[in-house]
Amino acid sequence: MLRSFGSESRVPTLAAVLDLIRERSAVSRVELAEATGLTQATMTHAVRKLITLGFVHEVGTARSNGGTPRRLLGLRPEACYMVGIQFDSFAAMGVVVDLAGRVLAQQALPAPGERQPAEVVVEFAEHVRAMLDSAAVAPSDVLGIGLATYGPQDRDQGVLLTPQPTREWLGYPLAATLAEATGLPVAIENDATAAGIGVHTLAGAPSSFAVVFMSGGIGSGVILDGFPYRGVTSNGLELGHISVDAFGPRCDCGNRGCLDSVAGSIAVVDRALGDRALASRLGLGSDPLTDFKRIGRAAIAGDPDAAALIDASAQMMGIAAVTLVNLFDVGRVVLAGSAFTDIGPIYRDAVQELLDESVFMRHVHNVRVDLADDVSLAAAIGGAVVVLRNLLESPNLGGRVVSPS
Ligand SMILES: [Zn+2]
Repeated sequence: MLRSFGSESRVPTLAAVLDLIRERSAVSRVELAEATGLTQATMTHAVRKLITLGFVHEVGTARSNGGTPRRLLGLRPEACYMVGIQFDSFAAMGVVVDLAGRVLAQQALPAPGERQPAEVVVEFAEHVRAMLDSAAVAPSDVLGIGLATYGPQDRDQGVLLTPQPTREWLGYPLAATLAEATGLPVAIENDATAAGIGVHTLAGAPSSFAVVFMSGGIGSGVILDGFPYRGVTSNGLELGHISVDAFGPRCDCGNRGCLDSVAGSIAVVDRALGDRALASRLGLGSDPLTDFKRIGRAAIAGDPDAAALIDASAQMMGIAAVTLVNLFDVGRVVLAGSAFTDIGPIYRDAVQELLDESVFMRHVHNVRVDLADDVSLAAAIGGAVVVLRNLLESPNLGGRVVSPS
Protein backbone atom coordinates (compact mmCIF):
# COMPACT_ATOMS: atom_id res chain seq x y z
CA MET A 1 0.00 0.00 0.00
CA LEU A 2 1.62 3.19 -1.10
CA ARG A 3 -0.75 5.72 0.30
CA SER A 4 -4.15 5.69 1.86
CA PHE A 5 -6.69 8.17 0.61
CA GLY A 6 -8.79 7.90 3.73
CA SER A 7 -12.33 6.72 4.01
CA GLU A 8 -14.19 9.98 3.64
CA SER A 9 -15.85 11.18 0.49
CA ARG A 10 -12.89 13.02 -0.98
CA VAL A 11 -12.22 12.09 -4.56
CA PRO A 12 -8.66 10.92 -5.14
CA THR A 13 -7.19 13.40 -7.52
CA LEU A 14 -5.12 13.24 -10.64
CA ALA A 15 -2.42 14.84 -8.52
CA ALA A 16 -2.43 11.88 -6.16
CA VAL A 17 -2.20 9.40 -9.05
CA LEU A 18 0.63 11.43 -10.54
CA ASP A 19 2.39 11.36 -7.14
CA LEU A 20 2.22 7.57 -7.13
CA ILE A 21 3.63 7.35 -10.65
CA ARG A 22 6.41 9.73 -9.58
CA GLU A 23 7.22 7.61 -6.51
CA ARG A 24 7.67 4.45 -8.59
CA SER A 25 9.75 4.69 -11.71
CA ALA A 26 7.49 2.24 -13.58
CA VAL A 27 4.06 1.15 -12.40
CA SER A 28 1.06 -0.58 -13.98
CA ARG A 29 -2.53 0.59 -13.89
CA VAL A 30 -3.42 -2.49 -11.83
CA GLU A 31 -0.80 -1.62 -9.21
CA LEU A 32 -2.03 1.98 -9.16
CA ALA A 33 -5.62 0.81 -8.66
CA GLU A 34 -4.54 -1.52 -5.84
CA ALA A 35 -2.49 1.21 -4.16
CA THR A 36 -5.30 3.74 -4.24
CA GLY A 37 -8.34 1.52 -3.79
CA LEU A 38 -9.77 2.96 -7.00
CA THR A 39 -11.57 0.80 -9.52
CA GLN A 40 -9.58 -0.13 -12.60
CA ALA A 41 -12.02 1.84 -14.76
CA THR A 42 -11.49 5.01 -12.71
CA MET A 43 -7.74 4.51 -12.77
CA THR A 44 -7.78 3.96 -16.53
CA HIS A 45 -9.67 7.24 -16.91
CA ALA A 46 -7.21 9.12 -14.67
CA VAL A 47 -4.19 7.68 -16.46
CA ARG A 48 -5.69 8.58 -19.85
CA LYS A 49 -6.00 12.21 -18.69
CA LEU A 50 -2.39 12.26 -17.52
CA ILE A 51 -1.21 10.77 -20.81
CA THR A 52 -3.25 13.35 -22.75
CA LEU A 53 -1.59 16.10 -20.73
CA GLY A 54 1.77 14.59 -21.71
CA PHE A 55 2.76 14.11 -18.05
CA VAL A 56 2.86 10.30 -18.20
CA HIS A 57 3.83 7.79 -20.86
CA GLU A 58 4.12 4.04 -21.27
CA VAL A 59 7.64 2.87 -20.54
CA GLY A 60 7.44 -0.89 -21.13
CA THR A 61 5.64 -4.02 -20.03
CA ALA A 62 5.90 -6.37 -17.08
CA ARG A 63 5.09 -10.07 -17.04
CA SER A 64 2.32 -11.06 -14.72
CA ASN A 65 1.82 -14.62 -13.50
CA GLY A 66 0.41 -16.26 -16.60
CA GLY A 67 -1.78 -13.27 -17.42
CA THR A 68 -1.40 -10.68 -20.12
CA PRO A 69 1.66 -8.47 -19.76
CA ARG A 70 0.93 -5.23 -17.90
CA ARG A 71 1.91 -1.98 -19.54
CA LEU A 72 4.04 0.15 -17.24
CA LEU A 73 3.65 3.88 -16.81
CA GLY A 74 6.35 6.39 -16.07
CA LEU A 75 6.62 10.11 -15.52
CA ARG A 76 7.87 12.48 -18.23
CA PRO A 77 9.87 14.90 -16.03
CA GLU A 78 10.50 17.20 -19.00
CA ALA A 79 6.78 17.47 -19.83
CA CYS A 80 6.49 20.79 -18.04
CA TYR A 81 8.21 23.03 -15.54
CA MET A 82 7.02 25.19 -12.68
CA VAL A 83 8.44 28.25 -10.97
CA GLY A 84 8.11 28.78 -7.22
CA ILE A 85 8.88 31.94 -5.28
CA GLN A 86 8.69 32.13 -1.51
CA PHE A 87 8.89 35.59 -0.06
CA ASP A 88 8.18 37.78 2.90
CA SER A 89 9.49 41.25 3.68
CA PHE A 90 12.88 39.96 4.73
CA ALA A 91 13.74 37.21 2.26
CA ALA A 92 12.80 35.81 -1.12
CA MET A 93 13.85 32.57 -2.79
CA GLY A 94 13.02 31.32 -6.27
CA VAL A 95 13.25 27.90 -7.92
CA VAL A 96 12.52 26.24 -11.26
CA VAL A 97 11.48 22.61 -10.94
CA ASP A 98 10.54 19.94 -13.45
CA LEU A 99 7.59 17.57 -13.21
CA ALA A 100 9.66 15.18 -11.10
CA GLY A 101 10.28 18.02 -8.64
CA ARG A 102 13.97 18.27 -9.42
CA VAL A 103 15.32 21.77 -8.80
CA LEU A 104 16.87 22.97 -12.08
CA ALA A 105 17.61 26.51 -10.92
CA GLN A 106 17.47 28.31 -7.60
CA GLN A 107 18.17 31.88 -6.70
CA ALA A 108 17.96 34.11 -3.64
CA LEU A 109 15.95 37.13 -4.86
CA PRO A 110 16.25 40.61 -3.36
CA ALA A 111 13.94 40.86 -0.35
CA PRO A 112 10.96 43.22 -0.79
CA GLY A 113 11.86 45.17 2.36
CA GLU A 114 9.53 48.14 2.50
CA ARG A 115 9.49 48.75 -1.24
CA GLN A 116 6.38 49.21 -3.36
CA PRO A 117 4.77 46.01 -4.68
CA ALA A 118 4.94 47.22 -8.30
CA GLU A 119 8.71 47.54 -8.07
CA VAL A 120 9.09 44.13 -6.42
CA VAL A 121 6.90 42.42 -9.03
CA VAL A 122 9.01 43.82 -11.89
CA GLU A 123 12.10 42.52 -10.12
CA PHE A 124 10.53 39.08 -9.55
CA ALA A 125 9.66 38.92 -13.27
CA GLU A 126 13.27 39.67 -14.22
CA HIS A 127 14.53 36.94 -11.91
CA VAL A 128 12.00 34.44 -13.27
CA ARG A 129 13.35 35.07 -16.77
CA ALA A 130 16.94 34.72 -15.53
CA MET A 131 16.19 31.48 -13.69
CA LEU A 132 14.43 30.00 -16.74
CA ASP A 133 17.42 31.00 -18.88
CA SER A 134 19.88 29.38 -16.51
CA ALA A 135 17.76 26.20 -16.44
CA ALA A 136 17.49 26.31 -20.26
CA VAL A 137 13.69 26.15 -19.96
CA ALA A 138 11.49 27.93 -22.51
CA PRO A 139 8.67 30.01 -20.97
CA SER A 140 6.23 28.17 -23.25
CA ASP A 141 7.03 24.95 -21.34
CA VAL A 142 6.25 26.55 -17.96
CA LEU A 143 2.94 25.72 -16.32
CA GLY A 144 3.01 28.79 -14.12
CA ILE A 145 4.44 30.53 -11.09
CA GLY A 146 3.45 29.78 -7.51
CA LEU A 147 3.96 32.55 -4.96
CA ALA A 148 4.31 31.13 -1.46
CA THR A 149 3.88 33.91 1.03
CA TYR A 150 2.28 35.15 4.25
CA GLY A 151 -1.35 35.79 4.96
CA PRO A 152 -4.03 36.68 5.29
CA GLN A 153 -4.47 36.29 1.57
CA ASP A 154 -7.17 35.71 -1.05
CA ARG A 155 -6.06 32.75 -3.12
CA ASP A 156 -8.79 33.20 -5.73
CA GLN A 157 -7.95 36.82 -6.41
CA GLY A 158 -4.20 36.41 -5.94
CA VAL A 159 -3.93 39.30 -3.48
CA LEU A 160 -2.63 39.81 0.05
CA LEU A 161 -5.18 41.02 2.57
CA THR A 162 -2.66 42.68 4.85
CA PRO A 163 -0.87 46.04 4.79
CA GLN A 164 2.46 44.24 5.27
CA PRO A 165 5.13 45.42 4.70
CA THR A 166 3.44 48.68 3.61
CA ARG A 167 -0.19 49.65 3.06
CA GLU A 168 0.30 49.56 -0.73
CA TRP A 169 0.51 45.75 -0.53
CA LEU A 170 -3.00 45.45 0.89
CA GLY A 171 -5.19 44.28 -1.99
CA TYR A 172 -2.49 44.90 -4.59
CA PRO A 173 -3.13 42.65 -7.64
CA LEU A 174 0.01 40.65 -7.00
CA ALA A 175 -0.76 37.56 -9.09
CA ALA A 176 -2.32 39.51 -11.96
CA THR A 177 0.59 41.95 -12.19
CA LEU A 178 3.22 39.20 -12.11
CA ALA A 179 1.19 37.24 -14.69
CA GLU A 180 1.16 40.33 -16.91
CA ALA A 181 4.89 40.91 -16.45
CA THR A 182 5.90 37.32 -17.21
CA GLY A 183 3.16 36.09 -19.54
CA LEU A 184 2.68 33.12 -17.18
CA PRO A 185 -0.24 32.09 -14.99
CA VAL A 186 0.36 32.86 -11.30
CA ALA A 187 -1.09 31.25 -8.18
CA ILE A 188 -0.61 32.34 -4.59
CA GLU A 189 -0.49 30.06 -1.58
CA ASN A 190 0.20 30.31 2.12
CA ASP A 191 3.93 29.69 2.60
CA ALA A 192 3.58 27.05 5.33
CA THR A 193 0.88 25.20 3.36
CA ALA A 194 3.09 25.38 0.25
CA ALA A 195 5.96 23.84 2.21
CA GLY A 196 3.61 21.06 3.32
CA ILE A 197 2.39 20.39 -0.21
CA GLY A 198 5.98 20.31 -1.49
CA VAL A 199 7.18 17.99 1.27
CA HIS A 200 4.19 15.70 0.79
CA THR A 201 4.54 15.51 -2.97
CA LEU A 202 8.27 15.18 -3.33
CA ALA A 203 9.78 13.93 -0.11
CA GLY A 204 7.66 10.84 0.47
CA ALA A 205 6.19 12.27 3.68
CA PRO A 206 3.29 10.40 5.26
CA SER A 207 -0.19 11.30 4.05
CA SER A 208 -0.94 13.23 7.27
CA PHE A 209 1.55 15.53 8.96
CA ALA A 210 2.08 19.12 10.09
CA VAL A 211 4.61 21.73 9.02
CA VAL A 212 5.93 24.45 11.30
CA PHE A 213 7.31 27.20 9.11
CA MET A 214 9.54 30.03 10.30
CA SER A 215 10.94 32.85 8.22
CA GLY A 216 10.17 36.44 9.28
CA GLY A 217 7.03 35.04 10.95
CA ILE A 218 5.86 31.65 12.18
CA GLY A 219 3.09 29.73 10.46
CA SER A 220 1.98 26.16 10.08
CA GLY A 221 0.33 23.90 7.56
CA VAL A 222 -1.43 20.58 7.97
CA ILE A 223 -1.73 17.91 5.32
CA LEU A 224 -4.49 15.38 6.05
CA ASP A 225 -4.84 12.29 3.85
CA GLY A 226 -2.70 14.01 1.23
CA PHE A 227 -4.79 17.20 1.11
CA PRO A 228 -3.94 20.52 2.76
CA TYR A 229 -6.37 21.49 5.52
CA ARG A 230 -7.67 24.86 4.39
CA GLY A 231 -10.37 26.02 6.75
CA VAL A 232 -12.90 28.38 5.19
CA THR A 233 -10.54 30.80 3.43
CA SER A 234 -7.12 29.08 3.52
CA ASN A 235 -6.07 31.43 6.28
CA GLY A 236 -5.95 29.02 9.20
CA LEU A 237 -3.12 27.27 11.00
CA GLU A 238 -1.61 30.62 12.03
CA LEU A 239 0.56 29.00 14.67
CA GLY A 240 2.44 32.29 15.11
CA HIS A 241 -0.78 33.86 16.41
CA ILE A 242 -1.85 31.32 18.98
CA SER A 243 -1.30 32.60 22.48
CA VAL A 244 1.48 30.99 24.49
CA ASP A 245 1.21 33.62 27.24
CA ALA A 246 -2.30 34.77 28.08
CA PHE A 247 -0.89 37.86 29.83
CA GLY A 248 1.81 38.53 27.26
CA PRO A 249 2.23 41.63 25.11
CA ARG A 250 -0.55 42.64 22.74
CA CYS A 251 0.27 41.46 19.20
CA ASP A 252 -0.56 43.42 16.04
CA CYS A 253 -3.22 40.80 15.32
CA GLY A 254 -5.13 41.76 18.49
CA ASN A 255 -4.34 38.61 20.47
CA ARG A 256 -2.05 38.55 23.52
CA GLY A 257 1.25 36.70 23.94
CA CYS A 258 1.29 35.31 20.38
CA LEU A 259 4.03 32.77 19.66
CA ASP A 260 5.35 35.07 16.93
CA SER A 261 5.58 38.12 19.16
CA VAL A 262 7.27 36.30 22.06
CA ALA A 263 9.38 33.67 20.27
CA GLY A 264 9.52 34.37 16.52
CA SER A 265 12.74 35.28 14.74
CA ILE A 266 12.02 39.02 14.97
CA ALA A 267 11.19 38.80 18.67
CA VAL A 268 14.48 36.98 19.30
CA VAL A 269 16.38 39.66 17.37
CA ASP A 270 14.57 42.46 19.24
CA ARG A 271 15.58 40.88 22.52
CA ALA A 272 19.19 40.53 21.37
CA LEU A 273 19.27 44.14 20.21
CA GLY A 274 18.13 45.14 23.70
CA ASP A 275 21.33 43.64 25.08
CA ARG A 276 23.96 46.09 23.81
CA ALA A 277 26.92 43.92 24.70
CA LEU A 278 25.43 40.92 22.90
CA ALA A 279 24.34 42.96 19.86
CA SER A 280 27.80 44.41 19.50
CA ARG A 281 29.54 41.07 20.12
CA LEU A 282 27.47 39.42 17.37
CA GLY A 283 27.62 42.41 14.99
CA LEU A 284 23.82 42.70 14.79
CA GLY A 285 22.06 45.45 12.87
CA SER A 286 21.33 43.87 9.48
CA ASP A 287 17.87 42.73 8.43
CA PRO A 288 16.07 40.61 11.06
CA LEU A 289 16.55 37.24 9.32
CA THR A 290 20.28 37.78 8.86
CA ASP A 291 20.56 38.87 12.49
CA PHE A 292 18.52 35.85 13.62
CA LYS A 293 20.83 33.49 11.75
CA ARG A 294 23.80 35.25 13.34
CA ILE A 295 22.33 34.71 16.82
CA GLY A 296 21.69 31.06 15.91
CA ARG A 297 25.27 30.48 14.81
CA ALA A 298 26.55 32.17 17.98
CA ALA A 299 24.32 29.87 20.05
CA ILE A 300 25.75 26.84 18.25
CA ALA A 301 29.28 28.17 18.85
CA GLY A 302 28.58 28.33 22.59
CA ASP A 303 27.67 31.98 23.29
CA PRO A 304 25.56 31.56 26.45
CA ASP A 305 23.40 34.66 25.93
CA ALA A 306 22.62 33.75 22.32
CA ALA A 307 21.93 30.16 23.39
CA ALA A 308 19.52 31.32 26.10
CA LEU A 309 17.52 33.35 23.57
CA ILE A 310 17.35 30.49 21.07
CA ASP A 311 16.48 27.92 23.75
CA ALA A 312 13.62 30.07 25.07
CA SER A 313 12.28 30.50 21.53
CA ALA A 314 12.56 26.77 20.82
CA GLN A 315 10.73 25.92 24.08
CA MET A 316 7.86 28.24 23.15
CA MET A 317 7.68 26.72 19.69
CA GLY A 318 7.53 23.28 21.31
CA ILE A 319 4.60 24.37 23.48
CA ALA A 320 2.76 25.64 20.40
CA ALA A 321 3.59 22.43 18.52
CA VAL A 322 1.98 20.40 21.33
CA THR A 323 -1.24 22.34 20.71
CA LEU A 324 -0.95 21.78 16.96
CA VAL A 325 -0.48 18.03 17.39
CA ASN A 326 -3.21 17.77 20.04
CA LEU A 327 -5.63 19.40 17.58
CA PHE A 328 -4.78 17.38 14.47
CA ASP A 329 -3.37 14.09 15.83
CA VAL A 330 -0.59 13.91 13.25
CA GLY A 331 2.35 11.53 13.59
CA ARG A 332 4.98 13.79 12.06
CA VAL A 333 5.96 17.45 12.37
CA VAL A 334 8.29 18.90 9.73
CA LEU A 335 10.19 22.14 10.34
CA ALA A 336 10.76 24.34 7.27
CA GLY A 337 11.68 27.93 6.48
CA SER A 338 14.96 29.76 6.15
CA ALA A 339 15.04 30.75 9.84
CA PHE A 340 15.85 27.08 10.56
CA THR A 341 19.06 27.22 8.49
CA ASP A 342 21.93 26.12 10.80
CA ILE A 343 19.83 26.30 13.97
CA GLY A 344 17.21 23.75 12.81
CA PRO A 345 18.54 20.81 14.87
CA ILE A 346 18.21 22.80 18.13
CA TYR A 347 14.54 23.58 17.40
CA ARG A 348 13.93 20.02 16.19
CA ASP A 349 15.29 18.52 19.41
CA ALA A 350 13.47 20.99 21.67
CA VAL A 351 10.13 20.46 19.89
CA GLN A 352 10.66 16.68 19.94
CA GLU A 353 11.29 16.75 23.69
CA LEU A 354 8.16 18.79 24.38
CA LEU A 355 6.03 16.53 22.19
CA ASP A 356 7.43 13.39 23.87
CA GLU A 357 6.61 14.82 27.29
CA SER A 358 3.24 16.36 26.83
CA VAL A 359 1.32 15.45 23.69
CA PHE A 360 -2.06 13.99 24.64
CA MET A 361 -1.83 10.88 22.44
CA ARG A 362 1.82 10.03 23.25
CA HIS A 363 0.86 6.65 24.71
CA VAL A 364 -1.06 5.82 21.51
CA HIS A 365 1.56 6.78 18.95
CA ASN A 366 4.79 8.69 18.83
CA VAL A 367 5.19 11.96 16.95
CA ARG A 368 8.43 12.46 15.08
CA VAL A 369 9.94 15.87 14.38
CA ASP A 370 12.04 16.27 11.23
CA LEU A 371 13.69 19.09 9.36
CA ALA A 372 12.66 19.53 5.72
CA ASP A 373 15.32 18.28 3.29
CA ASP A 374 16.20 21.88 2.45
CA VAL A 375 14.60 24.20 4.99
CA SER A 376 15.27 27.37 2.99
CA LEU A 377 13.93 25.98 -0.32
CA ALA A 378 10.97 23.92 0.91
CA ALA A 379 8.28 26.59 0.53
CA ALA A 380 9.57 27.81 -2.86
CA ILE A 381 9.57 24.24 -4.17
CA GLY A 382 6.10 23.82 -2.66
CA GLY A 383 4.97 27.00 -4.42
CA ALA A 384 6.04 25.46 -7.71
CA VAL A 385 4.22 22.20 -6.91
CA VAL A 386 1.08 24.17 -6.00
CA VAL A 387 0.79 25.32 -9.63
CA LEU A 388 0.65 21.69 -10.73
CA ARG A 389 -1.68 20.62 -7.89
CA ASN A 390 -4.10 23.48 -8.61
CA LEU A 391 -4.23 22.52 -12.26
CA LEU A 392 -4.84 18.84 -11.58
CA GLU A 393 -7.36 19.38 -8.80
CA SER A 394 -9.66 21.66 -10.77
CA PRO A 395 -12.44 19.77 -12.56
CA ASN A 396 -11.86 21.54 -15.89
CA LEU A 397 -8.06 21.51 -15.49
CA GLY A 398 -8.20 25.30 -15.47
CA GLY A 399 -6.48 25.62 -12.11
CA ARG A 400 -6.70 28.22 -9.41
CA VAL A 401 -4.45 30.68 -11.13
CA VAL A 402 -4.58 34.23 -12.35
CA SER A 403 -3.67 34.18 -16.03
CA PRO A 404 -2.15 36.98 -18.05
CA SER A 405 -4.88 38.86 -19.90
ZN1 LIG B 1 -0.76 37.68 16.91
